[in-house]
Amino acid sequence: MKTAQILERKTVFSLEIFPPRPDSDIRVIYDTLEKLKGIHPDFISVTFGAGGGKNGSRTISIASEIKHRCGVESVAHLPCIGLTRESAVEILDTLEENGIENILALRGDIPEGGCAAGDFAHASDLITFIKERYDFNILAACYPEIHPESRNAAEDLYWLRHKVECGADHLITQLFLDNSHFFDFAENIQLAGINVPVEAGIMPVTNKRQIERMVKLCGVELPKKFRRMLDRYGDDPVAMRDAGIAYAADQIADLIAGGVDGIHLYTMNDPYVAGKIYGAVQSLIA
Ligand code: FAD
Repeated sequence: MKTAQILERKTVFSLEIFPPRPDSDIRVIYDTLEKLKGIHPDFISVTFGAGGGKNGSRTISIASEIKHRCGVESVAHLPCIGLTRESAVEILDTLEENGIENILALRGDIPEGGCAAGDFAHASDLITFIKERYDFNILAACYPEIHPESRNAAEDLYWLRHKVECGADHLITQLFLDNSHFFDFAENIQLAGINVPVEAGIMPVTNKRQIERMVKLCGVELPKKFRRMLDRYGDDPVAMRDAGIAYAADQIADLIAGGVDGIHLYTMNDPYVAGKIYGAVQSLIA
């Protein structure tokens, strides 16, 4: 089923996982999926390493496993940086043959050391390419605190609207730790005439190193409340994990009360954390 159809019916609760490294046993992720299935997510999305088509074979297998063996709707991420038209067609044909209906079309983070030249500069180029040739439901990324490469919010919104005009049916946000950024963003996109559903991307921060990396990569603001949590529990792994779960659950409850279209949980492949968060908010998701 296309995610846009699920969003018409209910507040969506979806999960994101990443494939295990190419040199490790793929069966590890199947055990994880078995546990995540118990959360009854509306869909599970699978990330895809940027830099050309070769990084994605596990993404396709896992997206297929989610859909056909777990009976849960799946979304395959597809970053276009370094991708040629030929490899895009190869991947898209394989996704179609595997019955995958949903693609999260991305530009991708530019890998350290760069990557091969490709045929797509931006996610919007890939979206146009897909929409002209296939019948996939397209998801795309958006940034409540603006993308680090955008000069300002107006420029960020301009290109986001362009991406939606090219055919994005559904947006998922980058993680944020202060819900006011999301609520301001939701208001601004409405004013800009962007009317597709927006899921809030929530990342449970369960260790100090993880958030230091994320801040560097995504430039998210750390609110005072969050810094206090980090200062108090950052050096105690169990306390930090539990505080991170509570913080994410609190964010989700507030977002649902504020009328969000859906919650997309970045699980970091941790079914324990995802299960605890789901347990805390389950009754709020209708
Ligand atoms: P774009 O939409 O291309 O935007 C990138 C920048 O260019 C922005 O500043 C935008 O304003 C600007 N821009 C957009 N279009 C144009 C245009 N036509 N002309 C000029 N400027 C333009 N990365 C991965 O590698 N693999 C993944 O699986 C993955 N999954 C993700 C899932 C989610 C929910 C999110 C939020 C991000 C994910 N990312 C992933 C990271 C993402 O690839 C990076 O954030 C990347 O830097 C930007 O991707 P984008 O699709 O938003 O790019």
